[in-house]
Amino acid sequence: MKYFAGIDIGSTAIKISIANEKKELVGHKISASGSMFYKYAHETLDLLLYELNLTRDDLVYTVATGYGRKIFKEANENISEITANAIGARAAAKDYGEIKTIINIGGQDSKAISLDDEGNVTNFAMNDRCAAGTGKFLDACAMNLEIGVDELGDRHFKSEGTPLSINSTCAVFAESEIIGLLGNEHSVEDIVCGVHYSIAKRIVKLVKRVGIKDGIYFDGGPALNGGLVSAIENELSKKIFIPEYPQVTTSYGAAIIGIDSYTYENS
Ligand code: ADP
Repeated sequence: MKYFAGIDIGSTAIKISIANEKKELVGHKISASGSMFYKYAHETLDLLLYELNLTRDDLVYTVATGYGRKIFKEANENISEITANAIGARAAAKDYGEIKTIINIGGQDSKAISLDDEGNVTNFAMNDRCAAGTGKFLDACAMNLEIGVDELGDRHFKSEGTPLSINSTCAVFAESEIIGLLGNEHSVEDIVCGVHYSIAKRIVKLVKRVGIKDGIYFDGGPALNGGLVSAIENELSKKIFIPEYPQVTTSYGAAIIGIDSYTYENS
């Protein structure tokens, strides 16, 4: 069996997916990007191969993507994360149905991608100028509230009443606003819910820039947060599909691109 690696070096996390010739995801691993992308990407790959009982010799083609993709010089190819995300999303959602709109929230940016019937990217919009509406903002809020980022979802659903409004449009001011709300005896749960709705409103504006088409898919680390998913669904008044492993869609897409490139080069 031949294996293909997709390496997504994001601003916050390195995600590696390994696919087999049938384009099935056979394993994945996530680690923090830290300050040494190159070193950590290689370590993560070796660890994943070890867990899968594979070696580098089993990998016939590697595709790097994401913010730090150019530093992974050993890759056979590097590709934009928009293309890799689109291909990974379609594959991850193959049993769900057609994907036409992708929402991706990463550590330091958020994106909306529009696809045509064949899965080609027809339009995309990105916010990479402002931390509000990104994973970094969620991380900062969780830190201020002294909870883990993985607890935000559960806390959201324990909030009662109308979600608090977080009015600051800048992440730095929003953090001060959150501290002010704590000082006014608002519960952590109500603040978390307010934060999710403030992000959801920004995401809806971003998606509107590319046009909202049914078949909405949400990925990136923050898609693990059920409270944020619910807030975005409510703001859009639409159901959205979350894949089983939302943080690794783009690396999976990169591995699939590797299969196609390898097949083309060897045909
Ligand atoms: P990037 O590709 O830009 O590195 P990711 O898609 O890996 O970004 O997303 C990173 C963000 O995902 C983190 O900043 C964090 O807010 C969020 N995240 C990571 N793990 C979880 C989790 N278990 N629950 C909720 N959010 C998470």
